[in-house]
Formats: sequence, structure tokens, C-alpha cells
Amino acid sequence: MSEILSIVIPAYNEENNINLIYQELKKELKEIEFKIIFVDDGSHDNTYNNIKELSGKYDNISGLSFSRNFGKEAAILAGLKESKTELVVVMDADLQHPPVVIPEMIRGIVEEGYDIVTTRRTSRKGEPYFRSLMSKRFYKLINRLSDTKIIDGAQDFRIMTRQVVDSVLELDEYHRFSKGIFSWVGYDVKYIEVDSYKRIEGKSSWSFWSLIKYAIEGVVSFSTRPLRFATIFGSIVSLLSFLYLIQVIIEVIILGKITPGYTSTIAVVLFLGGIQLLALGIIGEYISRTYMQVKKRPHYFIKKRCGK
Ligand code: UDP
Ligand code: MG
Repeated sequence: MSEILSIVIPAYNEENNINLIYQELKKELKEIEFKIIFVDDGSHDNTYNNIKELSGKYDNISGLSFSRNFGKEAAILAGLKESKTELVVVMDADLQHPPVVIPEMIRGIVEEGYDIVTTRRTSRKGEPYFRSLMSKRFYKLINRLSDTKIIDGAQDFRIMTRQVVDSVLELDEYHRFSKGIFSWVGYDVKYIEVDSYKRIEGKSSWSFWSLIKYAIEGVVSFSTRPLRFATIFGSIVSLLSFLYLIQVIIEVIILGKITPGYTSTIAVVLFLGGIQLLALGIIGEYISRTYMQVKKRPHYFIKKRCGK
């Protein structure tokens, strides 16, 4: 096999996009020999059959199919493990990542000597207003909380050298947050600005809830600062309560003042209760991840494969 470029494409219910993206890639990468690794992430539609059909027709297509939906991060991991070439591209199946920039990405590595080239959205056109607002806030928050910088608008569309792929594969964590992992491993990164594109077929599989979960993942996987928050906030509140207690004692003993104090009591109880629950929740997020990691479960199971 002579290819030097593999393209890893996670696909979940993308039956109509498989052929489209292949045609697009073929059109844009005329002079480059490439291989596509589709990872069917337990789709419920004909995604795998379409991959299989395509792999029967063309030598440079192979496919893996998971035993169930394990999530995009697991699919990317499987694709990276499967790849053997010197350069690897990771991109979505829905044509939101324009294949037309791949030659430019390759030049970034081959001619300019970068290790990773990734794209950055300049606008969030075609995305619901509320969602783009939330995601801007998310990047602000995560960058304030974490030492690993994650660039707003950076997409899960990148090309990297074998060395980077191998480094990424060395991180064996169960909860994978690609955007953080690719930034954490370091290396020289080049950003190419692209316009955002609307999904061509099907619909985005992210629900509002899954985005919230993803955001929590991003923060908790790359920062332990929220834990410190709980400690610091708890200390401040305890100190203030202690001062208040002294004041109350002085009032009772020295001034002989007996206050009914229902409102202040209830306020303090509710406030402290809230803070405690929050702190417990934060700790719980970390413990649950430790728990999952300790179990050392596999990230996915491959049920079927096709192509070479
Ligand atoms: N995807 C996946 N498993 C999932 C969800 C999504 O492999 O559980 C794939 C999906 O097929 C697509 C890519 O991940 O190729 C990005 O998904 P989507 O377009 O839904 O996300 P968005 O572009 O809205 O961030
Ligand atoms: Mg998409």
C-alpha cells in the first residue's frame, strides 16, 4: 500500500453522507493517494451497509462498525488506532468540514513543518444563535479554568503527523475530550481560517443535554480547578459564618439581645445547603471519572469490518 494519508471519519446515522463525502474527497484530492477509514459508531440506519458497498468498489476504503453507539470520541480513537500512514486527517462525515482545504493542510505539514494543522471557524453562520452564544461562553469558561488552552471555533477537523497520532494514542483516558487532548499533547499547530458550513444531510446528533454533558467533560477532564473552587468557597463561607457566630454571641451575652432571626437563619441554612450540594456535585464529577477509569473498560467494541 502506497498511501501516505489516511482520513478517519466517524459516522453516526450518516447513510446519505457516506457516498457524498467520498465523492468530495476524490474530487479535491486528485493528486494525493489517500485511504479512508470510516468508523460506524453503532448507527441505526444504513451507514455501515453503505460503507461496505463503497469498500467493495474502491480499494482505498475501509470501515469499522461498533457494537453500539460509543460516541464520537471513541470512534475517532478507533480510527486513529487503525491508521498506519505518515499523515492522518480526522473529519466529520456531514461535510461541515470542507475537503477543499485538505491540500492546504497537507502543505502546512510538508512544506511549513508544522505537526498539526487544524481549521478554525471564522463565523458561526448556520448555527442557532443560542447555541453559538453558549459555545462562546463555554470556551471562555474552560480557558479560565484549565491550563490547557482550547481555541474557540477550533474544529475537530485536523491533520497530524504519525508522531502526533502516536502521542494522542498514548493517552489512555476513558473520558476523551479531543479538543483538549490534541492541545495537551503540544507540538506545533497551525490554524487555517474557514467559513462554517451547514450540515448537508441528516441532522446534528447533539441534543442540548449532550452539549451540556460535553461541556462538563471538557472542564472536568482538563482541570481540577473546580475542586479548588469548592475548597476556597467553603473556607470563605465558613470564616464568615464564624464571624457572624461571634457577633451573635456578643449580642446575646453582652447586649442581652434575643433576636427572633428566622429570616437570617433560613437564609444561611439554604445558602450553605446549596453550596454544599454544589461542592458535592463537583467532587462527584471527578469521582465518577476516577471510577470509570479504574474499571479500565475498553473504549469500544468492533463488531464488523470491511475493506482492507
Ligand atoms: N458522531 C459519531 N458518534 C456520535 C455522534 C456523532 O460518530 O455519537 C459523528 C457524526 O456522524 C459526525 C461527527 O461525529 O461525523 C460530528 O457530529 P455532528 O455533526 O452531529 O456534530 P456537530 O457538527 O453538530 O458538532
Ligand atoms: Mg456536524
